[in-house]
Amino acid sequence: MPAMMGQVAVERLLECPKTMTNGPCGGVATNGTCEVDTSHLCVWWEALAHADNSAARMPMPPADWSVRGRWSEAFVTDGPLQAAANTLDKDQRPMRAGSRFEQLLRDGRFALTCEINPPDSADPLATLDRVRPLIGVIDAVHISDNSLASPHMCGLALAALIEHIGMETILHMTCRDRNRNMLQADVLGAAALGIKHVLCITGDHPAIGDHPQTKPVFDLDSVSLINTVRHLRDEGSLLSGRSLDAAPNLMIGGGAEPTAPPLDFRPYRLAKKVAAGVDFAVTQLVYDMDQLEKYMHQVRELGFDRTIHILVSVGALSGPGMARGMNNSTPGVTVPDDIIRRMESAPQGKRRDEGVKICIEQIQQLLEMPGISGVDIMDLDPGRYAELVEAAGLTNRPFAAKS
Ligand code: SF4
Repeated sequence: MPAMMGQVAVERLLECPKTMTNGPCGGVATNGTCEVDTSHLCVWWEALAHADNSAARMPMPPADWSVRGRWSEAFVTDGPLQAAANTLDKDQRPMRAGSRFEQLLRDGRFALTCEINPPDSADPLATLDRVRPLIGVIDAVHISDNSLASPHMCGLALAALIEHIGMETILHMTCRDRNRNMLQADVLGAAALGIKHVLCITGDHPAIGDHPQTKPVFDLDSVSLINTVRHLRDEGSLLSGRSLDAAPNLMIGGGAEPTAPPLDFRPYRLAKKVAAGVDFAVTQLVYDMDQLEKYMHQVRELGFDRTIHILVSVGALSGPGMARGMNNSTPGVTVPDDIIRRMESAPQGKRRDEGVKICIEQIQQLLEMPGISGVDIMDLDPGRYAELVEAAGLTNRPFAAKS
């Protein structure tokens, strides 16, 4: 008799194309279909629709793929690694990274980050030239990891180069292209190169990238990667138990999905990440501020505003077509009808300005929203970040540059 979660056999969860072991990824469509195969419902969606099982809220350790089915047994029988409720409040935690970004968050200052996509190039100079003007304007830059499941310059290499010119980085690490051996090796390498913050995410499936023939890895998922990095840092050993001569000093980040279905489960998925060891979380791109308010209400009820720092990703729309496209093709992101109408009614030639205006309004709301520690500004053109920061009145950052 297979173990059951609601009406769904736990074994069926192994059919998830990303072998997610800690709940649904952020790509579930609003009708519950899978981001990889839209002809099927997400298996986690099906499971959670019937679940009242507290096991769904437990953070699972890295799966043992050497014994097929071992993970599904663990899903039912293993206890939580560490109850999220028992984690220390963020102001009581020891300094992890000793970075300016960490100090800013601990001081309760509103943090400003932005996204930099590594180039399709072996030459980093143009990207470094785009980052230099952001020093003193933005507190840290996110370096994506083969974004949209397509290869670009190695994020770790670019992050090290950007740290070298005086900008702090938040290195994204996805589980899609590397197994636990390589992920642990890269975490140690990142720390050795001076990177102080890693954001642990599962990553998009290769089916949505420009190399759909790729064999995906997904040995770990985001929660078990968070736990793995925490283990390296706090236990000073690899997952095998082999001791490190020096542990990495890092802040650990994770993703959050306030507007991705199933909405009611999303705060509990964050709970798993808190229990697994995140210090901060960064949301997917948010346009639906009403849903974000509801999510944050639940997050505050669970006490996570006290235990971790939460940054919200925002971005300026360029027109109604982009807004509708986000709804149709960006997993986990919803643009409400009133925003689409605003973009439609803006005069041609002024639509980008309207998108910036909406983005600024969102940042102003976030400045007032309890439990929000900062924003992550996303735009395809890094040249626009300074414009958005200035328009939002968030210039004069506390740390201008590395001394
Ligand atoms: S939507 Fe994500 S979690 Fe759900 S089955 Fe597909 S890949 Fe797995």
